[in-house]
Amino acid sequence: MRRILWFRRDLRVEDNPLLSLEGNILPIFIFDPNILEKLKPDDRRVTFIFSAVMNLKSELQKSGRDLAIFHGKPTEIFRWILAHDNYDEVCASGDYDLYAMERDRDVSHLLPFHSLNDTYIFHPDDVLKNDGTPYLVFTPFYNRTKIIFRSEHSAAYSNVPQNLIDFEYDDLHHIEGETLTRLSLSLPSIGFEAQLLTACQTMNPYDKLAIFASKLEHYPHNRDFMAMEGTSGLSTDLRFGKISVRAVLRWLIEQKQRGIDTEPFFRQLIFRDFYAMLLYHFPHLSTQNFRYHFKGVENNEYFKAFCTARTGVPIVDAGVRELLETGEMHNRVRMICASFFTKNLLLPWQWGEKFFAQHLMDYDEASNILSWQWSAGTGVDPQPYFRIFNPYTQTGKFDKEGTYIKQYLPELSDLPAKFLGDESLLFQYSSEEYPKPIVDHKTSAQKALKYFKNIR
Ligand SMILES: Cc1cc2nc3c(=O)[nH]c(=O)nc-3n(C[C@H](O)[C@H](O)[C@H](O)COP(=O)(O)OP(=O)(O)OC[C@H]3O[C@@H](n4cnc5c(N)ncnc54)[C@H](O)[C@@H]3O)c2cc1C
Repeated sequence: MRRILWFRRDLRVEDNPLLSLEGNILPIFIFDPNILEKLKPDDRRVTFIFSAVMNLKSELQKSGRDLAIFHGKPTEIFRWILAHDNYDEVCASGDYDLYAMERDRDVSHLLPFHSLNDTYIFHPDDVLKNDGTPYLVFTPFYNRTKIIFRSEHSAAYSNVPQNLIDFEYDDLHHIEGETLTRLSLSLPSIGFEAQLLTACQTMNPYDKLAIFASKLEHYPHNRDFMAMEGTSGLSTDLRFGKISVRAVLRWLIEQKQRGIDTEPFFRQLIFRDFYAMLLYHFPHLSTQNFRYHFKGVENNEYFKAFCTARTGVPIVDAGVRELLETGEMHNRVRMICASFFTKNLLLPWQWGEKFFAQHLMDYDEASNILSWQWSAGTGVDPQPYFRIFNPYTQTGKFDKEGTYIKQYLPELSDLPAKFLGDESLLFQYSSEEYPKPIVDHKTSAQKALKYFKNIR
């Protein structure tokens, strides 16, 4: 058997189903201009991916394998490869994003496509209701996953001996049409500039698990406090498969054996599966509401204030600064920001989703889209539009001392913490450096409720 092993969201050698297949192999990675052309040259995710791909290449070399790296449209690359050699199949781990499914369908017309389940714990067709339809509510979905979970869902794939097919592995293969240009293996060759990554972004995911082991016990409480670092920090690693979700599960099972309640963390992992399942079965959710045909109110001034961290609501602006400066944003802050965006500012959720998509290191189409729909109250969630976060109450609860806010808004460092969670004090506060709130919470929340009720 002659196989092309196509690495995509599984940039690792440990526990990778692609390396458990015997035979003659051509391992490849493709930098795809269909995706890259939408990004700015300083997009830090490309630095992250490039470094993960180079690391994968050197890890593969340690076992006598290698990685051929291409730049070009996937179908043109496969046509080029097949014009120069014969292959029986291409093997790749399932990627259920909308573009990815279309891309894989096109490639499957060129040679047999062997899809493996790796990205999520379950395949999107594995967890369905008794009548075979998809779950719309998270809790029953989660309960079902607990019933059907078996040891094989966390079992590791072993690497088997494979024969590496001869190829020019040292260069970057840039393919356009039928033409190959050999370039040096570097970020500028694909049109990007190297960016500085944060410590969390460069840390090995197994080291993150080792650190997180002592925090897991307190995860249910600490995970909501933005200044606490109470979460695993694994989302970007899981997004690009630097660690397999099965390795995280095996680690979790070990923690359970130590007597720790692992359920709350497992539940969050299942959210990833739930959202992937929803987008797979309801692809129209990527742009359209599931319920409440409220479209939002287009307001470029509000949108600009949000995207430049100038809303005058400190917790929201701190979150956006964190996002712009690091590509990260704490989960609770994401919820507060998305609620403020869709409810207090009444902006279309699609605008916010796109803004996050531009900047989040861990950007995952399904999780981002469905989380924005959840916040907007337009998704599958049965508790819909009347959930409106009060950003000031949230600040008082989860960043009482203003540690997180002041880290990202140093212009507020001298302001007493009580101002940060008190709207009336912020309206009285006068500063050249920081604006007053652009909306009043109570009035804007009432307006949102009225809009939604009328549309219902
Ligand atoms: C508006 C909004 C947009 C979001 N966009 C994304 C996105 O693009 N990509 C993304 O991975 N997550 C997204 N999330 C979910 C969540 O914010 C991140 O997964 C989390 O902040 C990552 O931090 P962590 O790895 O420390 O999480 P932990 O708390 O340590 O959780 C462990 C893992 O479980 C998964 N997870 C946890 N919470 C969620 C959740 N609510 N939904 C889905 N998966 C979850 C992640 O893979 C995470 O790494 C979004 C949430 C909101 C409210």
